[in-house]
Amino acid sequence: MSYIHETISNLKNTSPAQAEFYQAVEEVLDSLAPILESNKHYQQQAIIQRLVEPERQIMFRVPWVDDEGNIQVNKGYRVEFNSALGPYKGGLRFHPSVNASIIKFLGFEQIFKNALTGLPIGGGKGGSNFDAKGKSDGEIMRFCQSFMNELYRHIGPTTDVPAGDIGVGAREIGYMFGQYKRLTGRYEGVFTGKSLLWGGSLVRKEATGYGVVYFAENMLSVKQESLKDKKCLISGSGNVAIYAIEKLYQLGATPITCSDSTGTIYHESGIDLALLKELKEGSRSSLIGYLEEYKEAQFIPIDDYPKDGHAVWRFSADAAFPCATQNELTLADAQALIENGCQLVSEGANMPSTQDAINTFIEAKISYGPGKAANAGGVATSQLEMAQNSSMQTWSFEQVDQRLQEIMKNIFQTAHKTSIEFGQPGNLVLGANIAGFKRVADAMLEQGVV
Ligand code: NDP
Repeated sequence: MSYIHETISNLKNTSPAQAEFYQAVEEVLDSLAPILESNKHYQQQAIIQRLVEPERQIMFRVPWVDDEGNIQVNKGYRVEFNSALGPYKGGLRFHPSVNASIIKFLGFEQIFKNALTGLPIGGGKGGSNFDAKGKSDGEIMRFCQSFMNELYRHIGPTTDVPAGDIGVGAREIGYMFGQYKRLTGRYEGVFTGKSLLWGGSLVRKEATGYGVVYFAENMLSVKQESLKDKKCLISGSGNVAIYAIEKLYQLGATPITCSDSTGTIYHESGIDLALLKELKEGSRSSLIGYLEEYKEAQFIPIDDYPKDGHAVWRFSADAAFPCATQNELTLADAQALIENGCQLVSEGANMPSTQDAINTFIEAKISYGPGKAANAGGVATSQLEMAQNSSMQTWSFEQVDQRLQEIMKNIFQTAHKTSIEFGQPGNLVLGANIAGFKRVADAMLEQGVV
């Protein structure tokens, strides 16, 4: 459709040099053609043009003092993308690769993901190019406090509720919440992913990883299959990867790989989850330490990865769970997965597969769960945390896990049903994008030109 191309070309002119953001927008807009053609009012009301422009983008300086007394300066971001369905909701990412393009792609994806959960949450994302690696606890605290000195005026329990993402876990949330409380004098649910000691929800830590695996089970159930006895490849070794591995074991599957920014571990008999947690939760040491316990495991350093992709996807397995970062699964990786018999990909990370890798999965008709559907369990459980905070209740692990399973099933069914309705049964990219879009777009129509 020419006006989709026009929108993208206009975006490239008005928001230059944001490759990841264009990639995310193109992926969504490409699959919206059928609904835009059949519902002209979306076009008449310029819904697409409004959707791709964030309601508000905040960029700020984050100065802090390191342990040697030197002044360091980082960039801070919060993109409040769309509030048609509720307060902006989405994590904060602290990683040296963070820039405006990355935060905007994540915020854009978040709109549709949050809409798909069926919960009352809008889309936003934020972060900083701060590199936590090698920093002392004191440095991390001072950085988080400085970050909050600016962000506090833009967030609130009914306006914008951040959470964690890469490089932001319970420790960082604690420091940011402490500073928010000091600056505002208010103790309120302005963050999710909080510690269980002061307002966090059970299962939030596990939710994204568990959810990705629940989503995979739902995809397999339509083929009368399950994850039991399946060999699985996982990338990443952070929050999402660890709890995806945990749930895979609980369901009788065998996760045989994990990875980090230094390389990939392959362990044929199954990744030792306790050892992985010891190496990565808290201390974040390199995965090479895994070999000290398991001589038979293999470590492939990133310098030895294939030129056209990543070592982790070159092993033979039944299913793949990308849980590290964006664009970590290329066309060549996708082809290798399929050649080696992989029948399912469920994405824990945001936009981990490149567009040509996605096309390869769809053409091969394997079960493919795009991140905005498959990893929505984290944000959904964040909303359950908000609900517990505002009603001053605490739900049990089983209650929250039960809700998480229902939400993941609903997301799958909504995307699946929509793919059938629009003539491409099983294409969950199309199903998730159209279903998420419809909910946000209809709310925008009813709220007028704002
Ligand atoms: P963590 O910081 O806990 O872990 C990230 C993992 O990915 C680490 O193993 C890290 O390696 C690795 N990694 C990060 N960047 C790179 C890179 N450029 N190259 C290679 N490896 C890399 O983050 P999460 O587990 O929370 O997030 C992982 C993905 O899941 C992200 O895409 C995030 O947006 C997405 N996500 C997370 C949610 C959540 O609830 N946490 C919710 C929905 C999506 P190392 O240890 O060496 O740093």
